[in-house]
Amino acid sequence: MSSVLNEVLLANRDYVAGFDKGDLPMPPGRHFAILTCMDARLDPAKYAGLSEGDAHVIRNAGGRASDDAIRSLVISYKLLGTREWFVIHHTDCGMETFNDEIMRGLLASSLKTASVDATGWHDCCEGPGSTEGNHIAWLTIKNQAESVAEDVARIKNHPLVPADIPVYGYIYDVKSGKLIEVPEATKIGAVR
Ligand SMILES: [Zn+2]
Repeated sequence: MSSVLNEVLLANRDYVAGFDKGDLPMPPGRHFAILTCMDARLDPAKYAGLSEGDAHVIRNAGGRASDDAIRSLVISYKLLGTREWFVIHHTDCGMETFNDEIMRGLLASSLKTASVDATGWHDCCEGPGSTEGNHIAWLTIKNQAESVAEDVARIKNHPLVPADIPVYGYIYDVKSGKLIEVPEATKIGAVR
């Protein structure tokens, strides 16, 4: 068995042994949702003080307001009653290290894991690759405050998002664990 698979199953066995959350209702008890990056250094349950059943956490590469993230947020509000949303990007995000052109080029030459050094990303391995990456908007980030503001604006202006839901924009600092407000984003996300 893969050692990771084994570790996960052992950890779950311990979790089950002390489990007492079987009667939680489905709607989040604290009525809010967080859209944030999948980065392994971020643990929303810890940085935002969440327990099981408290809030929706939607994660993707960058914490970007993709069509699919918006799909989840709309379900979160419309069917499960969240009333406030956070968009939380972070310092040192991997999404700042490439752009669409770079990702598409890497994928076109090889599907294997690429490597990065001071001069940028490189494919180390044989092909074949695929040009299918040309059809994906990778939603990379140039500037964290701008990406937070852009995503708050996209969510706030989306026709399926009601006007009375505040959307807060923050950057998580991976060095300190602190959430830092992006005031421009929160202003865009305020209830009008
Ligand atoms: Zn990230």
